[in-house]
Order: sequence, then structure tokens, then C-alpha cells
Amino acid sequence: MNESWKEEVTDRMFLFLSAQKKAENRGQEEFTCPLCGGEAWWGRAPSNGHLHCGCRKCKISIME
Ligand SMILES: [Zn+2]
Repeated sequence: MNESWKEEVTDRMFLFLSAQKKAENRGQEEFTCPLCGGEAWWGRAPSNGHLHCGCRKCKISIME
């Protein structure tokens, strides 16, 4: 069974999340998507503080 797609997805998520962390550290709620160069955003749920982020161009979406 070929599981290489899982590694690829994890790599993309890791890249995206590291860009999100940098943006959060700078206090910016939008950043450039490291995967496609599009407009990416992030936010935290007020109720539980969970991180949710995504890109408007390549449609990657991550809920931590
Ligand atoms: Zn993107």
C-alpha cells in the first residue's frame, strides 16, 4: 500500500502552520500562503482557543 500521500499532506500542513505561527508572532491575521502564494488567514475560536487557518486560493484548511 502506498502511503506517500500522507507524508506529502503532513509536509504541506507543517509548512503552512509554520507560516501561520510567524504571522501570529507578528500580530498579523493574514499572511502569504507558503504553498501557492495566495492569501491565507487564521483565527482562534473564542470559546476554546482552537486554531483554525486556511488559504483562499489553494483551499488548504487546518483546524488544530
Ligand atoms: Zn494557498
